[in-house]
Parts: sequence; C-alpha cells; structure tokens
Amino acid sequence: MRILQNYVGGKWTDSASGRRRQSFNQANRDELICETQDSTPADAEAALRIAAEAFPAWSHTPMPRRAALLQEFLKHFGTREEEFARAITRENGKTLRESRTEFLAAFKEAEFQVGQGRRTAGASRPSELPGVTCHLRREPLGVATLITPWNFPLNVACRKLIPALIAGNTCVLKPADLTPMTAALLFESLHAAGLPPGVANLVFGRGSVIGDTIVTHPAVKALSFTGSTEVGLGIAQKLAGRDTKIQLELGGKNPLVVLADADLDKAVEAAIIGGFGCSGQWCTSTSRVIVEAGIHDTFLAKLIAGVKAIVVGDGSDEAVKMGPVCGSQQYETILKFIEVGKQEGARLAIGGNALTEDRNAQGWFIAPTVFADVAPEMVIAREEIFGPVVVVLKARDFDDAVRLANDTRYGLASSLYTRDLAKAQRFIAESGVGLCHVNLPTAYKEPQLEFGGVKESGRGNPEAGDSGIEFFTRHKAVYVKDQP
Ligand code: NAD
Repeated sequence: MRILQNYVGGKWTDSASGRRRQSFNQANRDELICETQDSTPADAEAALRIAAEAFPAWSHTPMPRRAALLQEFLKHFGTREEEFARAITRENGKTLRESRTEFLAAFKEAEFQVGQGRRTAGASRPSELPGVTCHLRREPLGVATLITPWNFPLNVACRKLIPALIAGNTCVLKPADLTPMTAALLFESLHAAGLPPGVANLVFGRGSVIGDTIVTHPAVKALSFTGSTEVGLGIAQKLAGRDTKIQLELGGKNPLVVLADADLDKAVEAAIIGGFGCSGQWCTSTSRVIVEAGIHDTFLAKLIAGVKAIVVGDGSDEAVKMGPVCGSQQYETILKFIEVGKQEGARLAIGGNALTEDRNAQGWFIAPTVFADVAPEMVIAREEIFGPVVVVLKARDFDDAVRLANDTRYGLASSLYTRDLAKAQRFIAESGVGLCHVNLPTAYKEPQLEFGGVKESGRGNPEAGDSGIEFFTRHKAVYVKDQP
C-alpha cells in the first residue's frame, strides 16, 4: 500500500490537514491500493502561489525548449505502459486491455502536442502599409487549474497538462478522488523529466473542500475541467465576469443511429464497444441506439446475443471483457436508473441486475443491460446513466432517426451506420455534436483532431488537436513600422 503525497514546487509534500483518504480496488473492495492527502484550501492556495511564482521564468523559456523538456517526459513515460495499465485497472476497474488503450491514447496525444511546440508560435500577415509588418503572437495565460474525472484518469490529465505546459502556462492538477494513483505516477514522469520546480503541481483533495479555491483564486487565468455537466456549469457560474478562460468537457447521451441498409454485424459490434467498453463509463459511450423500424427486431436479437457473450469480472483477468463500475456511488446511481427504466415501462431485454455471486461478490459489478421499447421522453432515454446500460429506440425512417438523435440537451458524440453516402453527409451536417462518426463507434478519436462537445456537453475551445494549445494561449496582434 502506497501513501501518495501532493507534488508542489518540485517536492512531494503532505497536506497540512494531516488527514488521508483511502482508495480501494474496484474489483475487490477489501484491497486497499493507496492513501492520499485530504488537502485543505490552504494546501491548494500554496500550490497556486508557487505556480504563479514559476510562471515568469517558464513563460519566457522558448517554446521549443519547453517542448524538449516534455520530450524527456515522453521518454520516461513511454517505458511505463504496464505499470500505468495495472494502476488504472485497479483504481478505475476497466480491463487491462482498456487501460493499455488509454495509455496509448494518452501517449499519442501527448506526442502530438509536444510536436506542436515547434510550430504554433503565431502567424504573420501582410500589411496595407509599406514598411509595416503584422504578426500574431500567441501568449500563455498564466496559472492553469486542471480538474480531471476518474473515467480517463491518465488520458484526460495528459490532454490538459501537456498543451498547457507547452504553451508556457504553469499548472495545478486536481485529479478525481477515486483515481489518485494514476496521477501520482504521471507526476513521477514529469519530475524525472526535470521540469523546473513549480511549473507542474499536483494537489489531491475533494472537490467539495478545495474546489472553490482552485476555481476562484485570482491567480487562476485558465480553468480546464472535465467532469459532470452539473459540476462544470456550476464552475462556469462561479467564474462569470472573471478574467479566467474556461474550457469545460461535460456529459453526454450519445446516439448510435442504425439505418436499414447498414452492415448489421458491424453496427452491433459498434453498439457493444460503445455501450459496454469501460462499463459504459466513457463520456463518448453509446447510450442510445436508434434503429430504423425495418431492421429493429433483427438488430435487437443480434445485440442481445452479443451482450450475452460479454464476460464480466476483475479487469486484471485477461479473459474478462467488462470490469466493474467505478465505486459505490456509480454503482448505486446506475442500479437506480435501471429500476427507473423498469418502472417507466421500458422492456428489459437483457441484464438489469447487480452481479454479486462468487468472485464478483467483492466488487462493483453490474450486468450489461439493454432496454428495448424505449420512448424518447423516458428518463433512461434522456439522462446520462454513465454505466453499462444501452437503450434502444425505434425510428420510423432516417428523418425520424436524426430528430431522435438530436432530441437531447447533450451534444458530445454521435454515429451513423449506413451505406448511403447522401444520408451520411446529411447526418454529419445536422447532428448536434462535437464528434461525429459514420460507420465507426461513437467513442472513436484520434489525437490530431479536436475533442469536445456542444450544447450541455461542453463550453469554450475543445481539447486536443490544434485547439489543445489554442485554449491555453491568448492572441496579441502586433504592428511594427521599420522606420520611426
Ligand atoms: P464530477 O463532476 O463529479 O467530478 C469531476 C472532477 O471535478 C473531480 O476531480 C471532482 O473532484 C471535481 N469536483 C467536484 N466538485 C467540484 C467543485 N465544486 N469544484 C471543483 N471541482 C470539483 O465528474 P466525475 O464523476 O468524476 O466524471 C464523470 C463525468 O465526467 C461524466 O458526466 C462524464 O460524461 C464526464 N466526462 C466528460 C468528458 C468529456 O470530454 N466531455 C470526458 C470524461 C468524463
């Protein structure tokens, strides 16, 4: 069992509270993984102050030099795949295969952003006047607070930290309570890279205790948050009118639309990957499957057969296809939603219960669940369940399917399965999301494209791609006349 410390000013330190919180394996709640600092607002304030002190020197370090230091980070980080994968599986619950995929995604995104360090300083433009040059400078914002969720403890932290640092900001990261180990391992690699003290800081703690400090402290000039819509929009309200740039990546209720001409086996596979990968706890998970009436029954029968074959268990067992959900709160919320679905008249096609027998007795296991005959106004069709629960809705035709897909307050990811290019183009144009797919699962992504949602799924610049560094900079237009 490890004791994890905060990382502030280049040193591993204890919280002034003297209190620690315990973290347990999601597949076996008797197994204590680590204890972390139960930080106080004063701890958070100290980290922000140290980050502010480190900002002038770091922001004046040439961008390629900052990128070279982060290249050292990549070298160290890149050798630790299995260590990270095992830590993620224990504290989050996802399978080892899923944890390795998360590691690779984090590495590729970080590598892309480090590469940006040699090419994103600004732009030059022609001037209307002789002897005048015009250029655009991109400048860092200052101290950035980065708040991350438990569902992608590594990928989301890297997606924020690396572009923030490359752009010349200094950072304080607050990881989710449930997944502290991954954050500690990440900061070990940053430390090994030789980043100057104070440039990247890590503070463990509860959002309810240190949240206000890390969000509203006057030193904070950028706030990048990934988590629930409720907490994210609350943060946006607290920052209204302040000089803090905000980036929010929030919840989703992502539709997968299957048309009658689709390759049904591929569409079923996408529903299973998107619906039950990481036990349905991706922000881009498929939670609604909208199926054209003509193939509805055939699709549903194939989906149920596919779900039956999912082996649920401890994710560290390589044979397991779906791990536990992450923690008691998730477990209870998901089971409550399943009860709501039964009560509001949806047809339980498979699953719908906790798994508590034998080896599953000590973990937070829920059977992969499919509801059919779901009406669009039902709670289970509208709320983000964030668990292994897929709801299937029947659409009359393509137009009805697009209408149903957009009938949500969320706008993160969507997908359409079809062979009809014209319908695909219309779907791309009309789908109200930040990530749109055709014949690919709703969760598919690559590092060179932006990642973020619209409507109640996001605010501000998206993350990753060119927007990764864009968010963490401000623009300055510069006009220089060569003769005074
Ligand atoms: P959450 O909102 O409960 O917590 C997210 C983070 O915010 C945690 O670190 C938490 O400690 C912190 N926090 C909580 N209250 C706070 C406060 N008052 N002030 C400041 N920080 C506070 O979300 P979660 O349960 O950890 O994550 C699941 C949610 O995240 C889902 O809704 C999911 O869709 C969303 N998510 C979105 C994306 C995306 O890119 N859109 C990616 C991953 C997860």
